[in-house]
Amino acid sequence: MSDILKTLEAEVEKKPGRSTGGSKLVYVKNLMAEVKAKNPAEPEFHQAVEEVAESLQLVLEQRPEYRSAKILERIIEPERVLMFRVPWQDDQGTYRINRGFRIQMNSAIGPYKGGLRFHPSVNLGILKFLAFEQVLKNSLTTLPMGGAKGGSDFDPKGKSDGEVMRFCQSFMTELFRHIGPDTDVPAGDIGVGGREIGYLFGQYRRLKNEFAGVLTGKGLNWGGSLIRPEATGYGAVYFASEMLGTKGQTLEGKTCLVSGSGNVSQYTVEKLIQLKAKPVTLSDSEGYIYDEAGITAEKLAFVMDLKNVRRGRIKEYADKFKGVLYTPVDPKLDHNPLWTHKAQCAFPSATQNEINGFDAAHLLRGGVYAVAEGANMPTTLDGVKVFLDAGILYGPGKAANAGGVATSGLEMSQNSMRLSWTREEVDNRLHLIMKSIHKACRETADQFGTPGNYVNGANIAGFLKVADSMMDQGLV
Ligand code: NDP
Repeated sequence: MSDILKTLEAEVEKKPGRSTGGSKLVYVKNLMAEVKAKNPAEPEFHQAVEEVAESLQLVLEQRPEYRSAKILERIIEPERVLMFRVPWQDDQGTYRINRGFRIQMNSAIGPYKGGLRFHPSVNLGILKFLAFEQVLKNSLTTLPMGGAKGGSDFDPKGKSDGEVMRFCQSFMTELFRHIGPDTDVPAGDIGVGGREIGYLFGQYRRLKNEFAGVLTGKGLNWGGSLIRPEATGYGAVYFASEMLGTKGQTLEGKTCLVSGSGNVSQYTVEKLIQLKAKPVTLSDSEGYIYDEAGITAEKLAFVMDLKNVRRGRIKEYADKFKGVLYTPVDPKLDHNPLWTHKAQCAFPSATQNEINGFDAAHLLRGGVYAVAEGANMPTTLDGVKVFLDAGILYGPGKAANAGGVATSGLEMSQNSMRLSWTREEVDNRLHLIMKSIHKACRETADQFGTPGNYVNGANIAGFLKVADSMMDQGLV
């Protein structure tokens, strides 16, 4: 390890306190010990619960009734976990077996709602962390949606359309009996875009003999909403604008680091360009590009075709455009060089734990003072601590990327009313929702004595609505 990184590591370890700056309540310590013992080999789930439990110390001190009603213990236990075999046949006629999941985490404030992820890394622990985060995120949106997450260890990369279709049909052949417009409404996530939602919806409709709003992210001809594809990326940028607004600043002229090159990243870049910011990076699981001149609308159109139609690798961007640096992933590195470039804003939009303590320190050194998370839990607990200690504008995923599920909620409303709103109408509603999430986070952080701490704000504001609903509904 280089000397610079050793120093950074020492800095990361030296910093006291995390989100609350105080010592942990014995209650939270005991709870974490129990979570780890009861859910072994699920590090991402432990991480998500720990971050939230630390914020909630502030609430539990003031509201002991939540402790006696065991609200936190109940919230971290899924209402239902479904795990099932997904058999399918590839183009060579070989039988293939994958594992399917749906974690129905909490339905106290509405039907279960949350995406499906198809990626080889998918396992029970990752989906439980995502479902847990989803409960609080959905509560923040102000819409009546419970939380869930699902998916499979199936890898759509390199598969033909026919293979993806047969897999999706087999997956839905089990899932259809557990979901419905008033029960559980899945959507997309990593590896699940418009194509996959189409195949899943087709099979649901065939099995149930009904046309219902049972999935969101649908095509416009068959019940989809305008702006749903754009919503998560646009929402993350709206959230960043709100954070910058508290300092009297805008995104105009700001250099921005964006990771990933999928749905969230593409529309983050689109909105950044519209607001006259300068996005300079994109990545995929094999490497990243750095385009010092800035990614323009024309270059973004190339990325959209590359990723959504040709399903190619981001390296091709550097082959196509002059002056672009491509850096392949080096698994030996303990940091990601994408986060070392000079910028003012960062939008991690690929996957969980893509910013560790070193990366967070690199971002600060490179001049970044606003981070809006498009991805779910892209920052490790060490990284979060670095951001909070530095007092930068740090918008955690459950607040900053809530625009996607919020617009899914708007799709559900349009389906129920059997009408379609215009692009402007949906975008305005999305914008208003992101403003209200930002306001709720900020006001809640103030109210609990940690001004500017969006982590505490999001965790507590999301928790209170679910917790009070659970108190009202008795021991279920
Ligand atoms: P996509 O599948 O469209 O894109 C994912 C991108 O991240 C791809 O560039 C992919 O590269 C990269 N990626 C995925 N896994 C890894 C990995 N293990 N290591 C490095 N890179 C990786 O997904 P989305 O854009 O929809 O989702 C991105 C993030 O945003 C996820 O965290 C998701 O949970 C979150 N999110 C998405 C929402 C949505 O509406 N879609 C809503 C809220 C949050 P490659 O192609 O090489 O795999």
